[in-house]
Amino acid sequence: IAVVAPTRTFARAYATATSPHALLLIEHRNGAVESGSLSALTAAQQLGGPVTGIVVGGPDEVPGILEKAKKLKGLTSILHSASPQYAFSVPEIVSPLLEKLLGSGTPYTHVVSSHSSAAKALLPRVAAKLDVPAVSDITGLEHDASSGSTTFTRPIYAGNAIATVRAPSTVPVKFFTVRSTAFSAAPEDESASPEVKALEPVQVTDSPTEHISTELTKSDRPELGTAKRVVSGGRALKNAETFKKTLDPLADVLGAAVGASRAAVDAGYADNSLQVGQTGKVVAPELYMAIGISGAIQHLAGMKDSKMIVAINKDADAPIFQVADVGLVADLFDAVPELTEKLKN
Ligand code: FAD
Repeated sequence: IAVVAPTRTFARAYATATSPHALLLIEHRNGAVESGSLSALTAAQQLGGPVTGIVVGGPDEVPGILEKAKKLKGLTSILHSASPQYAFSVPEIVSPLLEKLLGSGTPYTHVVSSHSSAAKALLPRVAAKLDVPAVSDITGLEHDASSGSTTFTRPIYAGNAIATVRAPSTVPVKFFTVRSTAFSAAPEDESASPEVKALEPVQVTDSPTEHISTELTKSDRPELGTAKRVVSGGRALKNAETFKKTLDPLADVLGAAVGASRAAVDAGYADNSLQVGQTGKVVAPELYMAIGISGAIQHLAGMKDSKMIVAINKDADAPIFQVADVGLVADLFDAVPELTEKLKN
């Protein structure tokens, strides 16, 4: 797949930037660095050059996040910019700051972030403003320092094919988002001492969009995207009440997050935020239990990289058994309560 080359004027301005230097967007929520950013940091280090993190947020949040970011292994320096207007990640408001940073003479050759909703709105916007392409949801990368080109792999067709995409040296700043499940999280390093620098916020007075409110689903369970264990239910769970009554006790005993197939979400058994698959979340936990889920390719696209897949289905020919490590052909309404009791004991 050919990557669109940038305009000549822009390419000329960056002709001297050859050795890689990544700018990593450090995303955060509720005072913690998002785990996706830790995976993006691991990916950024694979370019083979320095990695500068950037923390953008409200004045209340940035100092705490900065302290956490300083302890991350692999960051050579950190930039931070705090302003009340950055308290919510509105792409139209944050992008002018990045555009300024990446303007003519910038030292950065790559802009990296997790493949989060916020980054998917921000990075392509900045890339388009700079007239360079962006590569999304990558699962592998290789940077050729001699030519200055970077080659990425990314899943396409719901994970049924892997595309290899090259951003040539003529793309002066290469933007990419990282599939978190494909890279391990960067660890902490108490002895890390990155250089820290504050950036003046760029005031935006004419944004076409503004943040009005955020509604977060509250749950005591682990977050679905990062949980080590996931118990997912499908259409077979019948309704919202039996979905909860059947799966919650099993998830409780395993300390697992609850997920759902799209059929279960569309039928109103589970919240939208719990959908796993091509149009839902991509997860790769240590244990994934698919209960009353047939195993359509769109569902597999979101969970087939799980380390151990356990399927319970009363149809022995259900496609889920083709990817399962452990399969139980049984009626889930008998098997799940029995399994839960056994695990409790
Ligand atoms: P079904 O296919 O109806 O399967 C139910 C299963 O439960 C069957 O295998 C049946 O044997 C079993 N069963 C029934 N009763 C019992 C019982 N008592 N005990 C045990 N087993 C029982 N789907 C997703 O999940 N995620 C996505 O992100 C997604 N994105 C999509 C995007 C597009 C563009 C399209 C076209 C589809 C997408 N889908 C997605 C939908 C997908 O194609 C399937 O329709 C969906 O995954 C089916 O959900 P299910 O397995 O719960 O239901």
